[in-house]
Amino acid sequence: MDKRTEIGELGEFGLIDRIKNSVNLANDQSKLGIGDDAAVFQPRHLVVHSTELFQEGVHFDLAYSPLPHVGFKVVSAALSDIAAMNAIPKQVTLGIGLSNRFSVEAVESLYEGVQLACAEYGVDLVGGDTTASPTGLIISVTVIGEAEEDKLVKRSGAKPNDVVCVSGDLGGAIMGLQALEREKQVFLANPGMQPELEGKSYVIMRQLKPSARFDIIHELRGLGVVPTSMIDCSDGLSSELIHLSRQSNVGIRIFEKNIPIDDETYLVATEFNFSPLTAALNGGEDYELVFTVSQQDYEKVAKIADVTAIGFVTSNPEEQLLIMKSEQVVPLSAPGFGKKE
Ligand code: ADP
Ligand code: MG
Repeated sequence: MDKRTEIGELGEFGLIDRIKNSVNLANDQSKLGIGDDAAVFQPRHLVVHSTELFQEGVHFDLAYSPLPHVGFKVVSAALSDIAAMNAIPKQVTLGIGLSNRFSVEAVESLYEGVQLACAEYGVDLVGGDTTASPTGLIISVTVIGEAEEDKLVKRSGAKPNDVVCVSGDLGGAIMGLQALEREKQVFLANPGMQPELEGKSYVIMRQLKPSARFDIIHELRGLGVVPTSMIDCSDGLSSELIHLSRQSNVGIRIFEKNIPIDDETYLVATEFNFSPLTAALNGGEDYELVFTVSQQDYEKVAKIADVTAIGFVTSNPEEQLLIMKSEQVVPLSAPGFGKKE
């Protein structure tokens, strides 16, 4: 059996020391990290800040999410909001609530993923808080980034005739979740069964190890393009487009034939009797960027390999429409938005 050290043996301060000792500060804007009463930064531009709260059983299931993946995913998911503002990430803090089910080794495993993500995105882990939790693992991630005032992108700037773009492909994360959930049920019914995850590695990776798309942010900056509006795709394409449309007071039309869906997502969806289109529109957790650019800028954006134009912005704020391959026109809908009369 793996070594298990109780957190009580090491104490909260011992645990924080271990975390501290494995962290180096990479950004020269991070002046003071873990170990004092507060962290200190010296930002050069506008500060962009966001917090995400994750709870075991609601946002992740430790039956099929290894702790390093949970650590990586919570940081990616939180940083995705910084990308969606067209900002550059700099610092992260992590609040954790732990039940006595978690050993020191388990916490270290979680932080392995956190630090892998920090290294990948070039951000510093500069602090956090640690407390007991009676219910399971709770993780609060606060992310801090920077953007020049003229680079900051909100949800509210889309203009009629802009091109609607999306990075990567959609619907994979929800199909990965379906595959993992099914294996969990099979395992619970018969613990001797081997998991059957062949042909599902891409969708499972989309679910367990999503990326925040700073590569796209850097490409846009390289091209000198500032999107007119942007949001990250955490709840599903429909939901994000309705946000952009409402907050920009414009309409949006997208085309089913242009929505990027990976072949494996199609195959897994078919196997599960799930519509690939629904996976893309309402699945969520893909953490791709959805943004609008002027037609002029689109000529440059078209050069980015991993960006697809899926539609355009209209002047009618009442319409958020999907044009099907059959040419049938249907309104986009998403849970959480009330029906309009
Ligand atoms: P205080 O009692 O002043 O809140 P803490 O003992 O909670 O101090 O924290 C001491 C230092 O350790 C602080 O720099 C804090 O940011 C950091 N820290 C505490 N918990 C974590 C954690 N889970 N991850 C990263 N840093 C942490
Ligand atoms: Mg504290």
